Amino acid sequence: MRTKEQVKREILAAIDRRAEQIVSLGEQIRRTPELGFKEVKTARLVEEAFTGLGLAPKTGLALTGVRAELRGAAGGPTLALLGELDGLVVSDHPLADPATGAAHACGHNCQIAGLLGAAMGLLETRAMEALSGRIVFFAVPAEEYGDVEWRVDQARRGKLEFLGGKPELLRLGLFDDVDLAMMIHTTARPEDRKAAVGVSNNGCIVKTVRYLGRAAHAGGAPHRGINALYAASIGLAAINAIRETFRDEDTIRVHPIITHGGSQVNVIPSLVRIETYVRGKTVEAILEANVKVDRALRAGALALGAKVEIETLPGYLPLYNNEAMAKVFKDNAISLVGEAEFASVGHRTGSTDMGDLSHVMPALHPYMGGARGGHHAADFEIADPVLAYVAPARALALTAVDLLWDGGALARDVLKVSKPRMTKEEYLKFQRGLQGRELFDGNAPHPASPRGGEEKR
Ligand SMILES: [Zn+2]
Ligand SMILES: [Zn+2]
Repeated sequence: MRTKEQVKREILAAIDRRAEQIVSLGEQIRRTPELGFKEVKTARLVEEAFTGLGLAPKTGLALTGVRAELRGAAGGPTLALLGELDGLVVSDHPLADPATGAAHACGHNCQIAGLLGAAMGLLETRAMEALSGRIVFFAVPAEEYGDVEWRVDQARRGKLEFLGGKPELLRLGLFDDVDLAMMIHTTARPEDRKAAVGVSNNGCIVKTVRYLGRAAHAGGAPHRGINALYAASIGLAAINAIRETFRDEDTIRVHPIITHGGSQVNVIPSLVRIETYVRGKTVEAILEANVKVDRALRAGALALGAKVEIETLPGYLPLYNNEAMAKVFKDNAISLVGEAEFASVGHRTGSTDMGDLSHVMPALHPYMGGARGGHHAADFEIADPVLAYVAPARALALTAVDLLWDGGALARDVLKVSKPRMTKEEYLKFQRGLQGRELFDGNAPHPASPRGGEEKR
């Protein structure tokens, strides 16, 4: 019988023997960035790697997800180790795909390398013979919530319901047999040092907005037009004006972009499209800010007598890192990087669909270093490939060993003290309840106005 320490040492040695291969997988993915739900090449690479290890992966989950599992002794809990497949559009990144603008500017390529490396270490050492329960290796699509129009279109065609990877996988039942889940996100923030765990992350809802005006000759007859761009810019200015009503402790973030701003310069724009998130620390804060954002958007339509169509989509719930799992990760991370290189960080204002998982099961989303530059920025790059690609493999595998050792005792403890905030059914109901579409007519009759409020042109 091997001791836990022996198994861990063997896993570390196995991962180190594969270090070059793990780095090269991470680099290969970095050079093949794909957008969410379209990670076809990356998914194939994961599938081939899993198959090469003797696993039997299921593919095409929520379009591109790949899942495989390892069984230990019967009766233990099931732990999912996750890696995110997608890049995001940062067109001026030096490694951006020239056709799509996709780049790995959030380091998700490191997650996949780490996931594959963890699988290698656990398989090669037959670690499951000493563990109970199951480990699910899950490469998941579409963490970055962008490319919204395309995704909405996929939803209309019935190919998706939720527009983020983990929510969609949850809906499809692909986490029904999972008890707890973890992943490791790469970080470029110096304050995170080599490994870090935060407390929580903002959640968000997503909005698509269409200002509808009327086209007219911009030189000859602008009075005949309704300028949708001006309506939109007043809506955006109104959003900026309400920022001072947001409380610091709610960490609200609203950051709209115009995705279509007019068609031809000598035509008064009749259509402007906007996308935005409304992020916040709690669901209540997000919903409150959302009411104000909708009001601000209507103001633009009202000023110009345009129409505005506001579509609200479920985004991601706030992330709450499970403290008991965080402790297990922290001990392992310190054993790998040293106490001085571990950081405990507070609340983060980005959002992740790991937040959704954290509402239905104990979940952990820590960070490991190795990157530099800005996340989602053109200067994001891998500074230390061993730390970025190999260290997460080690930390994932060691944490899994701790959780599933001794009949899965630690994992059982985690489950005992952590009551999920929602059942899966409650989660689905809540997210579906956020969905809404409003058409506001800024030129609707107004009884107090001398001409009935309606402008007749
Ligand atoms: Zn990101
Ligand atoms: Zn990310």
